Formats: sequence, structure tokens, C-alpha cells
Amino acid sequence: MKNNEQKVMLTGVRPSGNLTLGNYLGAIKNFVTRQTKYKSYIFIADLHAITSPRDPVELRVAVNDCIAMYLACGVDPEQTIVFRQSDVLEHGIMGFIMTFQTHMGELSRMTQFKLKSQNMGKNGIDTGLFVYPPLMSADILLYNTDMVPVGLDQQQHVELTRDLAQRFNKRYGDTFNEPDVYIAPVGNKILNLQNPTEKMNKSDGPNPGTIFLMDDLKLARKKIMSAVTDSESIVRFDEENKPGISNLISILAAITDDDIAAIERRFAGRGYGDFKRAVADAVCDLLADIQAKYQQFKNPAVLNAILANGAERARVVADETLSRARVALGLK
Ligand code: AMP
Repeated sequence: MKNNEQKVMLTGVRPSGNLTLGNYLGAIKNFVTRQTKYKSYIFIADLHAITSPRDPVELRVAVNDCIAMYLACGVDPEQTIVFRQSDVLEHGIMGFIMTFQTHMGELSRMTQFKLKSQNMGKNGIDTGLFVYPPLMSADILLYNTDMVPVGLDQQQHVELTRDLAQRFNKRYGDTFNEPDVYIAPVGNKILNLQNPTEKMNKSDGPNPGTIFLMDDLKLARKKIMSAVTDSESIVRFDEENKPGISNLISILAAITDDDIAAIERRFAGRGYGDFKRAVADAVCDLLADIQAKYQQFKNPAVLNAILANGAERARVVADETLSRARVALGLK
């Protein structure tokens, strides 16, 4: 149910100053290059951050670092509504409502839940990990979102959001817009450089296989140069048999916007050393640019003003959607 013609794009990231190259190529870059075409929202998902216990001081710092990082990556607060999820209280109530539209079976089938719950200690699995997908649905539905650019790991959650919107609309009347997911054709799943069967994750901590956007350039170069490859010495994209090289090709293609076949041709007959140096150059140029801008944006007064303005603008739309849902449910 849309009130205006302009299409809406929304994305969120859990607060961490330690964004990875995977976050940038899988989600942020796709958002930044489209932010002028859409009415755009980007939020720091701090409610999602407390699904597992987190140090409060560290969390507050992480929120600011994360916004500074978004801005450094090219998010323009004039174009895009930038806000902190917990500043817009409607997220909590809508999350509650969406949880009640969801079946236990649906949540049990979520790949992220299955993967992460395996690694949780003997103290049991946090409920937050189980119920965060309907909160994510609430985040998306509150803004009448048309398009959500995410990495492959989040596709299932956006699909759940569509299902929940359809279910709600069928039960209570047309209330929510059904969002589409946007998965970038290249860079949607950047893999760990040392273990190219696993996703590159910011929760990996200091890790030779994970490039953080704030990594020292020498360290980032070293990580690329020592990335796991294979013994074939041919730069060829083959995810099944050459996951390491294919991952490096994806990284280069996603940064430079070159297509994969062109990269394969450019490095035909050249060894892995040459190829890795080109990947390292591209990564280091990108990181140098982001890091320089990051320093400019690390001013708490500027960041607070951006968040206050963003929350105010977001609240207007969130409140309207929540009211509509409450009326539909008979709560208002
Ligand atoms: P998260 O780090 O889980 O908060 O994810 C934030 C966004 O980055 C989501 O859209 C993810 O799908 C995306 N993302 C995270 N890691 C990767 C990766 N290794 N490759 C591609 N996209 C990723």
C-alpha cells in the first residue's frame, strides 16, 4: 500500500566499527550507488545488536563508529535518512506484531539461526537469535520499502518479510508493501581469504582471512598476498574447484565494476603473484579512500546531529505505518 510514487530502498547493519570488505561489497556499495534513485533509508540496527549480551559502553561507541563508516563509504545524509533503530520506538512495537505473525517452523528453518545456534554455548540458545527475523521484517515494512540490498546471507530474511506482509495483508486487509530483495550479481558473498568455503564475517575478530575496512594498508595487502589459492596457476572463475581464486576475482570485479570474463582475459598467462598484486592494489586504494573520509566524519557533534535529524524524519513514516497496522488489527 503506497502513498507516494517514489520507490523506497532500505538497509541496515548491526553496529560495529569493524565493517568488513564483505559488508561493503555485499551491501553498502549497492546502497550508495542507488541512493539518489530511491527514497533511501539506512539504519544502525542496535536493537539487533542486543540479541546477545553486549557491553553498553562498547555498543554506544560502535554505533558512532558505524555511522562514520557509512558516511565514509559514501552514504550522503542529505540524500539518505540515516538513523539509529532504537531511536524510532515504532520498531519495537512493530517487531512484536510481526513476531506474532510468524510460525516457529519458519524461524527454525532460518539458515542463520541454524548456523549460529550450533556455535552457542551450553547455556542455551538466546531467544533473540531465534526471533530477530520478524524484527528485521518490522524494520523493512515500517518504511513501505520496495527494495532491500543485502548480501546472500540475508536473502532468506527478506523473503520471510514478504511472506509475513502477504499473510498480514490477507488476514487484516491491505496494510504493508511487499519488498523485493536486491542481491548484487558479484560480491554477494565474499569469503574468508584463508578458508574460502566460509563467509568473511565481522565477528571473526582479528583474522588473517578477513579484511576490515579499517585495516592498516600493509596488513590488508599481506592478507591478500597470503590468501589461500590452488596449485593450478590459472586465473579462472570456478567457485567449486577454485574457491580461493574465484573469491579474489569477485573482490576485484566488485571493486572495479569489471566483468569476470574481462579479468580472466587480463590475467591469462600471468601467475597468481601478479593477479594478487592487482587485487591488493584495488583493495588498498579503496581502503585508503574510506579511511581518509572516516577521519573527517568522526566528529560526535556532527554524527549526533545526523542521527537526530534522521530519527525525526524516519519517525513520521514509521508512525504512519504502525497506526495503519494498529487500525487493521483492531488495536486503535
Ligand atoms: P552484518 O555484518 O551481518 O550486519 O551484515 C550487514 C550486511 O552486509 C548484510 O546485507 C549482509 O548480507 C552483508 N554481508 C555481510 N557479510 C558479507 C559477505 N562476506 N559478503 C557479502 N555480503 C556480506
